[in-house]
Amino acid sequence: MTQDAPKVPHTTNNAGIPVESDEHSLTIGPDGPVLLQDHYLIEKMAQFNRERVPERVVHAKGAGAYGDFRVTNDVSQFTRADLFQPGRRTPMLARFSTVAGEQGSPDTWRDPRGFALKFYTEHGNYDLVGNNTPVFFVRDPSKFQDFIRSQKRRPDNGLRDHDMQWDFWTLSPESAHQVTLLMGDRGIPRGYRHMNGYGSHTYMWVNEGGQRFWVKYHFETDQGIEFLTQADADRIAGEDPDFHRRDLFDSISGGEAPGWTLKVQVMPFEDAPDYRFNPFDLTKVWPHADYPLIEVGRMTLDRNPEDYFVHIEQAAFEPSNLVPGIGPSPDKMLLGRLFSYPDAHRYRIGANYTQLPPNRPRSPVSSYAKDGAMRYDASAAARPYAPNSYGGPAADPARSGEPAGWAAAAGEMVREAYSLRAEDDDWGQPGTLVRQVMDDAARDRLVSNVAGHLADGVSAPVLARALQYWRAVDKGVGDRIAARFEQA
Ligand code: NDP
Repeated sequence: MTQDAPKVPHTTNNAGIPVESDEHSLTIGPDGPVLLQDHYLIEKMAQFNRERVPERVVHAKGAGAYGDFRVTNDVSQFTRADLFQPGRRTPMLARFSTVAGEQGSPDTWRDPRGFALKFYTEHGNYDLVGNNTPVFFVRDPSKFQDFIRSQKRRPDNGLRDHDMQWDFWTLSPESAHQVTLLMGDRGIPRGYRHMNGYGSHTYMWVNEGGQRFWVKYHFETDQGIEFLTQADADRIAGEDPDFHRRDLFDSISGGEAPGWTLKVQVMPFEDAPDYRFNPFDLTKVWPHADYPLIEVGRMTLDRNPEDYFVHIEQAAFEPSNLVPGIGPSPDKMLLGRLFSYPDAHRYRIGANYTQLPPNRPRSPVSSYAKDGAMRYDASAAARPYAPNSYGGPAADPARSGEPAGWAAAAGEMVREAYSLRAEDDDWGQPGTLVRQVMDDAARDRLVSNVAGHLADGVSAPVLARALQYWRAVDKGVGDRIAARFEQA
């Protein structure tokens, strides 16, 4: 009895030409040399050599999914942005990640988590590129590269090095708030579904009447915050390095679409100059008591990518994608990132990265960009210059975004830190976190996490500075960490 072979499509090469064999190279006789005219073999080998694009220098290991954002509250008094208007539902893409580890690194390393969102709005793509913490390690983009190098591998031995990390952190006291969050429970979320996302930077919102506001975004997980202890995270790193990626994919394919509720803090535009600390400093939060959370809507992720490389590895998020009704603030880190993200994509993926499926706007594009490697959108203006008299696109200032919605005070050109206000110290907010937000058990875990981290290859001078650093955050916590070393 013969069994019918299952019907499968015929293999072709990349040009669609049917190929002779999936298994055998073209040779002179079955035992002879391989021939150069075996185009299909050469295509297979050459394509394989080029399968990777350079991995992201930061946020290399991640996971993501598609979904939508639905507005649940009327915030039109604060912004005219299309995606935040009552009743609106906007398709979107989210990518979560660790920061310092490479593509294959374990998901459960202690690290901040990236929380990058792309909303396909009626007025172009809106990207919000945040983290699972509301603050960051540095407040000037000039220190970003140095910070990241201190977290990556040492040039001589190729190893990550806690001495480099604490050396940089203790020489950069503005890191204290983020380091406290990192060393606390939220430094290792149980999974991407169980963490909040924060826009972190301050942004500007502009309403229909042209009135301006400062905003901070908070995406609160509807699954509840959950974390891993250091011991559990270490164990899982060995058992399942892809723990977070697997959890996100499996929950969505199993019909459990995770959700987050977006809330914003809104500061009247006029409050900023006299607020007690610089509201644009990325190392600070705005206390909830000063600026309470206002609900905006809910994001749900319900569709896995059918191909990880196409949709997540090639996803390109850029904080410069700001749609009408939303603009940047004078946060120096944000202003640096407006340049560095699209520049990274042009290098990593190529000049035409916005034409790829995850990055392609769902609204019409009529730009004057042309040519470049791998361009396949042939809809460029027939006369590729503006102005032209052949019906090419014409800019309309009334429809554009809010790139220059605030005027910088005129002054001398300087290389200086932000000017200081009454409460612009580096230790106050991490101290509040340790004393007023963490409970006894969370504080115990903080002490244990820091002591464990410091015990791993940190040199004596850096350790001494680290103990001073923690005593500045909180005397009691600092003393308890120090006691671990005195006992040793
Ligand atoms: P609140 O008491 O109103 O807010 C404290 C917030 O801390 C909570 O709402 C929660 O943020 C977060 N939180 C709770 N437990 C932990 C934990 N174990 N580790 C880290 N964060 C936790 O006070 P304030 O708004 O005055 O802020 C006090 C401190 O809380 C800040 O200095 C900051 O360190 C921290 N914080 C403040 C946030 C803010 O935007 N105001 C956001 C996150 C932390 P959430 O509800 O976002 O989960």
